[in-house]
Amino acid sequence: MTKVKGAATAQGFDAVLVTPGSDLRYLTGYAAKALERLTCLVIPAQGDAFIVVPNLEVLAAMASPIAELGMPVIGCDEHQDPYARVAELLPGAVSIAVDDHMWASKVLRLKAAMPQVTQHLAGGLIEPIRMRKDAREIDALRRAGAAIDRVHAQVPGLLRAGRTEREVGRDIAELIISEGHVSVDFIIVAAGANGASPHHEVSDYVIAVGDPVVVDIGGTMPDGYCSDCTRMYAVGDPGQEYLTKYDVLFDAQKQSREVARPGVSAGRIDAAARTHLDQHGLGEQFIHRTGHGIGMETHEEPYIFQGNPFLLEAGMAFSIEPGFYDEGRFGARIEDIVVCTEDGIESMNNQPHELVVID
Ligand code: ZN
Ligand code: ZN
Ligand code: ZN
Repeated sequence: MTKVKGAATAQGFDAVLVTPGSDLRYLTGYAAKALERLTCLVIPAQGDAFIVVPNLEVLAAMASPIAELGMPVIGCDEHQDPYARVAELLPGAVSIAVDDHMWASKVLRLKAAMPQVTQHLAGGLIEPIRMRKDAREIDALRRAGAAIDRVHAQVPGLLRAGRTEREVGRDIAELIISEGHVSVDFIIVAAGANGASPHHEVSDYVIAVGDPVVVDIGGTMPDGYCSDCTRMYAVGDPGQEYLTKYDVLFDAQKQSREVARPGVSAGRIDAAARTHLDQHGLGEQFIHRTGHGIGMETHEEPYIFQGNPFLLEAGMAFSIEPGFYDEGRFGARIEDIVVCTEDGIESMNNQPHELVVID
């Protein structure tokens, strides 16, 4: 919060306003639900931070880490206007930053309550802070990675011909929770031709012998940190062409991991995998960026895309997940979450990268 305050002052904002979501949880530890009523953390550039909450949520707020911060919790009755209350508490403000995920309805009501105040996005000042993880956060990501690795270790027992993607997905959802997550964020079980769509989730498609299966799964841990990992399976022999292409992807993902370290640009990590896939005729089928940052959100800064000059630093966490997608036929992706150390990377995911062929 001190860093956000400093950044707000440096960028000339009178206050930063944050509603429920990962920014609020990151800054205060309060995992409030986003509802129609206004809950709003206000971090003034001058003066102490406070949070405005509906009266019925004061107890929940006080039961959260907010209490330890000693921050004033200002309750609003149902008949009071919480937006007017925020405006009152920010006299003389001319410029504020609102969190990037604030609902449009709230942004507009704040505007109506403070017509003279210009609104800007707070992402530009919060993201650089969230992107640089401290030891405690890296440890949280390590635990999330280990939890999703334990799920992947059990996937071979769930995949067999005759089951639908949805049935397998349901079993995986149970494992995501039983291995330590509090929520399932996404489950992709993409068999056969469905694997050619990177964001296919699950369907009633019945897995057949010879199908490669993309399993990309993730959840949120009790402390709010997320997991995300893709491994590849095949139910029976997927055929020589697939195996040959898989080897190319295996090397491409490895090459990206090998160049990743502090001081290297995000674009160079992307280029490592992309060049390798290109050289083997699979470049055209690699239709997405190589990765995304991860923390209290599955997708956050930094983004690992073609030409991105952004230089990585120790403490940055992101995915390395190249793939190839052959429409109507099959697809593949290999994904690890890694964190930049002082001189290289540490992988949060440690299941083998080889294609797991299930007989
Ligand atoms: Zn994605
Ligand atoms: Zn993923
Ligand atoms: Zn990912």
